[in-house]
Amino acid sequence: MVQVKDKQFEVFLPETEILARTSQLAAQLSRDYANKEPLFVAVLNGSFIFAADLIRHVSVPCHVSFVRVHSYQSTASTGTLTEVIGLQENIEGRHVVVVEDIVDTALTMSRLLAQLREQMPASLEVATLLCKREAMQTDLALKYVGFDIPNRFVVGYGLDYDGFARNLPDLYVLKD
Ligand code: 5GP
Repeated sequence: MVQVKDKQFEVFLPETEILARTSQLAAQLSRDYANKEPLFVAVLNGSFIFAADLIRHVSVPCHVSFVRVHSYQSTASTGTLTEVIGLQENIEGRHVVVVEDIVDTALTMSRLLAQLREQMPASLEVATLLCKREAMQTDLALKYVGFDIPNRFVVGYGLDYDGFARNLPDLYVLKD
């Protein structure tokens, strides 16, 4: 058990299990992207540890880039908008794999994919460590998923609670 600020968390997935699954995903990506020189686009901050572990096990030539996603309320009636910050590469004609820590409602990811799609990549897929499938509000095709998890709040292995706990090697879930 671990205390993070005012909340208690218990181990949910130990680092060894995460790494075993991550290297399976990397092997699958290496097969699927042989001769395609994929561009991995990792979404900061949460995915930094997963991206490092995943991409380190990819055995085919590839490029790596990092973006941030800024979500904000539009003043018009269009609701929440998402801005992709920091993408340096021209992704037109590239095989792009977005690397994310967790897909919850999937709203962030679907807006991010829509923005990237406008730039005409040759292909666009998602590799996410975690997916809360029952929380998803939009029908998103996620090709590379580490673990389907219940709709509970998790921290560690890059994921935070109020900025803390990203450094914990294992993944923890909030205690009931
Ligand atoms: P979505 O748009 O899919 O609902 O939101 C995804 C983002 O919400 C993730 O990138 C992550 O930052 C945050 N998030 C969703 N669920 C969790 C969770 O269980 N733990 C943490 N630490 N962040 C979460």
